[in-house]
Amino acid sequence: MEDLSVIIIGAGIGGLTTALALQRVGIAATVYEAAPELNEVGAGLTISSNATHALEFCGLGPFLEEHGFTPDQGGLIHYRTGKALVQPQIGRDYKAKFGAEYYLIHRADLHNGMVGHLQSQNSDAIVLGHTFVGLEQTDDAVTVRFSNGAMDTADLVIGADGLRSAVRDCLFDTPEPKFTGQVAFRGLASAADVEPFMSVAPAAVAMGPGHTITRYYIRNRTMVNVVCLAKTDVWQEEGWSTPATTDEVLKEHEGWHADLIGLLKAIPEDTLYKWALFDRDALPVWSQGQVTLLGDAAHPMLPFQGMGAAMAMEDGVVLARCVEAAASVPEVFERYEKARVEHANGVLLGSRAMGVWYQTTDPDNFTGFPQPSSAGGPEGNLMAYNPATVTV
Ligand SMILES: Cc1cc2nc3c(=O)[nH]c(=O)nc-3n(C[C@H](O)[C@H](O)[C@H](O)COP(=O)(O)OP(=O)(O)OC[C@H]3O[C@@H](n4cnc5c(N)ncnc54)[C@H](O)[C@@H]3O)c2cc1C
Repeated sequence: MEDLSVIIIGAGIGGLTTALALQRVGIAATVYEAAPELNEVGAGLTISSNATHALEFCGLGPFLEEHGFTPDQGGLIHYRTGKALVQPQIGRDYKAKFGAEYYLIHRADLHNGMVGHLQSQNSDAIVLGHTFVGLEQTDDAVTVRFSNGAMDTADLVIGADGLRSAVRDCLFDTPEPKFTGQVAFRGLASAADVEPFMSVAPAAVAMGPGHTITRYYIRNRTMVNVVCLAKTDVWQEEGWSTPATTDEVLKEHEGWHADLIGLLKAIPEDTLYKWALFDRDALPVWSQGQVTLLGDAAHPMLPFQGMGAAMAMEDGVVLARCVEAAASVPEVFERYEKARVEHANGVLLGSRAMGVWYQTTDPDNFTGFPQPSSAGGPEGNLMAYNPATVTV
C-alpha cells in the first residue's frame, strides 16, 4: 500500500519503532506526541534478541552495537545470603542461539537514537506538544483531534499512546487500569561506586519476600541500572518521575544482604524515582475501522519478564510488514491481529505469572525457574521470535 497516509499517536518506543519500520517499507508516517519535548526517563532497558531483530529491521543494528552492553552471565541472588541461586549464561551466545544479540541499554540513549534515525530521513516525522483527544472515522479516512485545536486526517491511525491510551478509549469500552499493589523504585549508580557489590554477575535479580532488585550494567559498564519492585499496600503515584528517598528504599529491604544494601545506598538520591505498577486486561481485538493499537495501549504488561518494550517493537515491525503485504486497511489489520494478538496477550499473561512467581517463591527452597511462556518461538522461548520474518 504505497500511498497510504499514516498517523501514529505517541512517540514512545512503540510509536517510534513503528514509524521507523514504516519508513523502511516506504511509508512516511507522522508521529504526534503530547509532550512538548522528548525526554525519555533515566533508566535501563533490556533489549532481548526478539527486540534486537525488530531494531535491526529499523536500521538500528549498528547503533545497538555501539551503545548496548551484552553481558556474559545472569544471576538470581538470594536476598539474605547475597549468594547466587543460579547463574545462567545470558547474552554472549544469544546471537548463535536466537539470531540476534541481547543488549542492556540506557532508555534515553535508545530513544535518542531512534529519534535521530527517524528525523535523518524525515525531519517532520515527529510533531510535539499535540495531545490526542478524539477521532472521527468515515469508511476510508480518520480525522484525529488534539487538545490544542489542531486536526489531521489519514488513511490509517495507530494508537501507540501507552497504558492510559486515549485512542483505546475511543475504540473500546474497557475498565480503567488497576493498581497492582506493587511499586517500582528506579535509580542509576556509577559503576565505580558499586563495583564491590556486583560480584555475582553483570546482570542479576535479587529475590526476597515480596520484593526483587534487578541490577545491571549499562553505558559501556560505566553505570548500573537498579530497579526494585516491592509489594505494598500503600498506593503510590503512577508517573515515572515521582522522586523517592534512599530511606524509603532501604526500609523496603530490611534484612537484605550487605551487597544489596550497599548497592541501594550507592544510588545518588537525585536519580531515585518511584512509580506504581498498573495492570489492564488483554484485549481480544485491537482494531476498529481504520484505527489500531500497539504496545502498552494494546497490551500493557508488568515488568517481570522485561518484555513490554520488546512487544511494542515487535508490534511495530509486524504492522509495517502487514502494510507492505496487504492491499487494503482491513487486510492490514486482519494480518496484523492474526500475527500478534495471541502472541502478545500470551506474554502479558506470562509476565503476570512471572510476577506472582517472583513474589511468592521462597529463595530458601529455590528449585529452578518456571518454564518460559509457551507463547514464544519454536523453542517456546520469547527470544526466538523474529518479527522481521514471522509470517504475516
Ligand atoms: C519497571 C519497568 C521496567 C521495564 N523494563 C523493561 C525492559 O527491560 N525491557 C522491556 O522490553 N520493557 C520493559 N518495560 C516495559 C516498557 O517500558 C513499556 O512496555 C514500553 O515503554 C511501552 O512502550 P509504548 O511505546 O507502548 O508506550 P509508552 O512508552 O508509554 O509511550 C507512550 C507515548 O505516548 C505519549 N502519549 C500518551 N498519551 C498521549 C496522547 N493522548 N496524545 C499524544 N501522545 C500521547 C506518551 O507521552 C508517550 O511518549 C518496563 C516497564 C517497567 C514499568
